[in-house]
Amino acid sequence: MATDGMRGLDRLLDLQEIDLSIDRLEARHRELEGGEEIGAARTLADEAERRLGDMRLELDGLSREQGRLESEADSLSRKEDAERARLYDGSVANPKELEAIRHEVENLVARRGRIEDEVLDLMVRREELDETIRRAEAEHREARDRLTEVRGEAGRELDEIERTLVTRRKEREALVPVIAEDLVELYEELRAQKRGVGAAALVDGVCQGCHQKLSPLELDRMKRVEGPRRCEYCRRILIPR
Ligand SMILES: [Zn+2]
Repeated sequence: MATDGMRGLDRLLDLQEIDLSIDRLEARHRELEGGEEIGAARTLADEAERRLGDMRLELDGLSREQGRLESEADSLSRKEDAERARLYDGSVANPKELEAIRHEVENLVARRGRIEDEVLDLMVRREELDETIRRAEAEHREARDRLTEVRGEAGRELDEIERTLVTRRKEREALVPVIAEDLVELYEELRAQKRGVGAAALVDGVCQGCHQKLSPLELDRMKRVEGPRRCEYCRRILIPR
């Protein structure tokens, strides 16, 4: 390769730095556009809403059950009053019948007692559920706020990335003509094969692309090589530092 073929070799690492930064910005841009963070925040908010909905349904169920039991207790209480009235209003004189009524009143009292115990249990469960719902409401609010925030953040970050990309692409455009065409071509080929890194610094005999130490023999041979020096392990273009 003629001297011109090596033109701008010392700028290849600058190009590499710009290209890696562009790669990172584009990847982040895709990520934000794909809305992974927004998606995750939305999932959390939806789950919080669903949990809250389930709890509210459960609370409605408990309230209905309580109402049903209370009206049952009321109706038992009315029957009880009616039976008691019959005991004392003189309408029944037959002792056997009176005994049966007394027995019935006892039954009614016992049934009403059991129902009232159930109502008390339900009230305790409702109180507990009320407390759980208050916590779930707070979690739901938090999740909704986070979603709004992430949406806003993503929008701002996308704008910022787009501005930076414009700047970096201009820098790249200005830099590429400074470097020999063949060199850029080789660098691009290597970049495509080697996870975006086509050129690496050679520091103290160590390739910064693959972090392997080159043999003294190879380092010596390199000095006489025409054209770009390449790492004997990863084949990247080496720029001595
Ligand atoms: Zn290497």
